[in-house]
Amino acid sequence: MKSKSADCWLTIIGAGPYGLCAAAYLRAAGVEARVFGEPMAFWQNQMPAGMCLRSNWGASHLADPRRELTLDAYCRQNGNHIPKPIPLDRFIDYGRWYQVHAVPDLDRRHVSSVEIDPRGFKVVMAEGEEFTSRRVVVATGIGAFASRPAEFAGIPCALASHTTEQNDLRRFKGQRVVVIGAGQSALESAALLREADIDVEVIARDRTLNWVGLHPRLHHLGVISKMLYSTRDVGPAGISRLVAMPHLFRRFPRGFQDRTAYRAIRPAGAYWLQSRIAGVPITLGRSVVSAAVAGSRLQLRLNDGTERLVDHALLATGFRVDVSRYPFLAQSLLTQLETVDGFPVLHGGLESTVPGLHFFGKPAAWSFGPLLGFVSGAEFASRELIRSVTRNNASH
Ligand SMILES: Cc1cc2nc3c(=O)[nH]c(=O)nc-3n(C[C@H](O)[C@H](O)[C@H](O)COP(=O)(O)OP(=O)(O)OC[C@H]3O[C@@H](n4cnc5c(N)ncnc54)[C@H](O)[C@@H]3O)c2cc1C
Repeated sequence: MKSKSADCWLTIIGAGPYGLCAAAYLRAAGVEARVFGEPMAFWQNQMPAGMCLRSNWGASHLADPRRELTLDAYCRQNGNHIPKPIPLDRFIDYGRWYQVHAVPDLDRRHVSSVEIDPRGFKVVMAEGEEFTSRRVVVATGIGAFASRPAEFAGIPCALASHTTEQNDLRRFKGQRVVVIGAGQSALESAALLREADIDVEVIARDRTLNWVGLHPRLHHLGVISKMLYSTRDVGPAGISRLVAMPHLFRRFPRGFQDRTAYRAIRPAGAYWLQSRIAGVPITLGRSVVSAAVAGSRLQLRLNDGTERLVDHALLATGFRVDVSRYPFLAQSLLTQLETVDGFPVLHGGLESTVPGLHFFGKPAAWSFGPLLGFVSGAEFASRELIRSVTRNNASH
């Protein structure tokens, strides 16, 4: 399939789970695509070494049309075993193995700009090369959306950093660290800090900690479990089934979608973290109202009037999608892109209001639900893309 006028038919920006899966499906469907990005870079550089995936085994395969590149196939081929929960370094290794098999011609270069062109889009590489592409799939993840609370504006990164800015927590050895947040990232960071003998406290505005996977028996009840839980592993019993069907999910009223999405992905830790954070001081129902540099340390004041003097605040404060923060999207393109709260409004094929421009991963979650924020949503996204581009191509 070759575009008559553009230099290439389709460009994928991003080589994480979404970009790699999309490329594998396109190849299998005979659709020409150029794919850019450093494979599994976000997982390698912006997650803490030593962490484990919260998703279970069945939800952590990178989908491929022939089911030949599963985690099980990776283990068989490499003659090794991956423990559960899946360690981050093993998952990164699996992702790179997948890339070598599914997208051997991946171009690791960085895309610096995408703008609208009469032939589709003009794509400019960081090194200066440019070409035109009929379609572009943006699969560049959440790294650009790290959310830093306003109280920490102006505090240098050396004293307060987002979790995406740290990938080796052992560098805090001998220091006193507070972790802000109550989700998986906060609780697992606290566990890793404690295991490295680092003085750590967790502070969160949530009044209780939520846990996932506390009732493993519910997953071993045969047909009943299948009715309650999808293999996609996003959300609690019942909701798990609904969010695994994005076309159905998006038909519900917006208020219901928003409440259900929140319930599916609210801050929560995996049950296996409970024992690992035993003994870590956890202050719940409190938030930081001010942060100030005090010499070489950081002075925090909480909404209960208490204070903390620490060496570092680790902000496990999540991500706020705002596609205008993708630095490569030209302003002229953004003005034509319909968004809601920073999310692009997407239609069939995860295509935006800019014809030929598709968004994969978390930015697709406003339109297609919380599944799209997880590795296990990549199969749906890739199939949707194939359906849309092959139909459009046939009608040209
Ligand atoms: C701490 C933590 C734990 C998580 N645990 C899980 C989990 O257990 N299970 C799960 O399903 N999800 C988990 N997630 C969510 C996870 O981030 C997403 O599921 C996953 O990364 C989505 O993949 P992606 O392909 O959209 O993005 P990414 O994996 O972030 O990939 C983005 C790609 O885009 C590339 N890129 C970016 N900009 C450019 C550019 N300008 N030019 C070229 N390439 C570019 C990057 O190099 C990278 O290759 C976790 C997230 C965090 C922060």
